[in-house]
Amino acid sequence: MKMMLFDFHIHSEWSDGDNSLEEIMKAAKDKGLEIIGINDHLSSIKASIPLESEALQDYLLDIREISQTIGIKALAGLEIDIYPPDDLDIEVLNKYDYLIFENIMGLPKIKAICEFSKKIQGPLIGLAHTELRYPEPIFRKVIKLLEDNNIFIELNANYTQNYEASHDLFKIIAESKIGISIGSDSHSIKTLGLFNYAIEFLENFKINIEDRLVLLKKFKTGP
Ligand SMILES: [Zn+2]
Repeated sequence: MKMMLFDFHIHSEWSDGDNSLEEIMKAAKDKGLEIIGINDHLSSIKASIPLESEALQDYLLDIREISQTIGIKALAGLEIDIYPPDDLDIEVLNKYDYLIFENIMGLPKIKAICEFSKKIQGPLIGLAHTELRYPEPIFRKVIKLLEDNNIFIELNANYTQNYEASHDLFKIIAESKIGISIGSDSHSIKTLGLFNYAIEFLENFKINIEDRLVLLKKFKTGP
């Protein structure tokens, strides 16, 4: 059976993307994508217009409603760069399908995300565009923490350099039970679903890609 066509990292006008949710979902459907994840920036050093925390409820409802209308499975996500993430409204976050944390390097930040993940019920938690610049013994600790806390890692089409030079470290991920996500990090409908490089990279390792795609596995049958 063919793998469902997906894209689990997309930005809209709600933060620094060019397109509305409606345009994105229509374009995704036209491209034949069956399940997508939209994760605008909840605050960001990089994004000039992050989501306001007051807008979290409206944003979520918008994703749910428009996906119903257009008839595409669209997961509601957030990309977060707040550390430690303790002052976030857990009640609202719990209604989301997934949360990805960006700029996470080093054990202290990884540990903070692990602690935070214990308070969260509902959304899957992952690291956006994971950087693999660790000495191997430290990386093994990172992987163990992520594995124990059920945190996935993401391969992101905008950051292929993050894993290109890390073939050996990626082997450790491949041998672990860590979930994987893949996304285009698209800020425009032109790049929706474009991440062939990530798939080609994963094919170097003896893993069942579909089996490791946690968002696909969990939400195939609807959020
Ligand atoms: Zn992003």
